Amino acid sequence: MAEAIGLAKRGWGATNPNPMVGALIVDADGNVVSRGYHAADGAAHAEIACLKNMPRAVLPTDTMYVTLEPCCTKGRTGACTDALISAGIKNVVVGAMDFSPEHSGRGVEVLRSAGVSVQTGILGRECEDLNFIFNHTAKYGRALLAIKYAASKDGKIALDDGNRAHITGKEAMHSVHEWRALFSAIGVGFNTIKIDNPALTVRRDGVPPSCRQRLIFSAELNFDFDMLSKRVFTDEFEDKTRVVCCSDSPQDKIDFLKRCGVKVMQLSASSADRAAFWSELKERLFSEERISSIYVEGGAITLSSIINSHSADYAFVYQSPKVFGENALDALDEKARGSWKIRNPKFELLGLDKLSYGEVEYL
Ligand SMILES: [Zn+2]
Repeated sequence: MAEAIGLAKRGWGATNPNPMVGALIVDADGNVVSRGYHAADGAAHAEIACLKNMPRAVLPTDTMYVTLEPCCTKGRTGACTDALISAGIKNVVVGAMDFSPEHSGRGVEVLRSAGVSVQTGILGRECEDLNFIFNHTAKYGRALLAIKYAASKDGKIALDDGNRAHITGKEAMHSVHEWRALFSAIGVGFNTIKIDNPALTVRRDGVPPSCRQRLIFSAELNFDFDMLSKRVFTDEFEDKTRVVCCSDSPQDKIDFLKRCGVKVMQLSASSADRAAFWSELKERLFSEERISSIYVEGGAITLSSIINSHSADYAFVYQSPKVFGENALDALDEKARGSWKIRNPKFELLGLDKLSYGEVEYL
């Protein structure tokens, strides 16, 4: 199953909004005879790919290991349960169960009633964690919103002269690009673009730069030409950038942006109702564009708005051992600090920095 998880990860970021899935067929002696994984949205499911790669006929003593419960409804690619049964697979070992209420347990049921022996929950937690985004959309029918920030040991993001300091090291930066690659959209507030001018692209070793949908949040839309010269509005991926505003954002500013060729997404939520704003964003992106996940990288105003309206579903917090002192700028406003935590966090040590991540729980 651990090898199947490794196979599943080859679809990292490419399978959205579908899950990452890996599958193996192992013979009676424990040798792996075939491997498959779900490579991209619209491509064959892992089980089908694995059956296709099988070098010989399936024997009754062969076992398929698959990280996620096989699907049993005919989607674009046909039900995997049917394919397994007709290929003659007699033993299946499943990692995580499908999270969508209408599917969960049904794939296993279909297989068992066809006489297939099924074992479930093998490395279940790991298999489940792998698809935290898919699990969320299956359960709630809207995009998962994750916040990400890096802070000093005392919870600060900038030195007291207002200068943005390098908080974390290069290992943490690599990690951020890996996670960006997994998400379908990346979001930041207006001020982050204005002050930091980030590219918000995915840059990984040995892979050409790529770009997710880039969302710039702004209610007031205080855009000027200088702002429009920033990287997200001028680089090779500029068509992936859009400004997200509210129902009461000034119409003349919206017209100005559109005249400048900037895409604008105006929500029907007003700027006074932050909870409605974030909730409408998650619902519309998922239902209208199949965008299943949003990775929001700051800054403090945007992140605090998300936390204070209880709209963050997931969090990535990078913590550096540096101390900036009490006069430095806080990563989150006073209300947001201490109002939430990461439930059952997972930890990674990245050089001298520490990443904690997981589902957000409000206290
Ligand atoms: Zn399937």
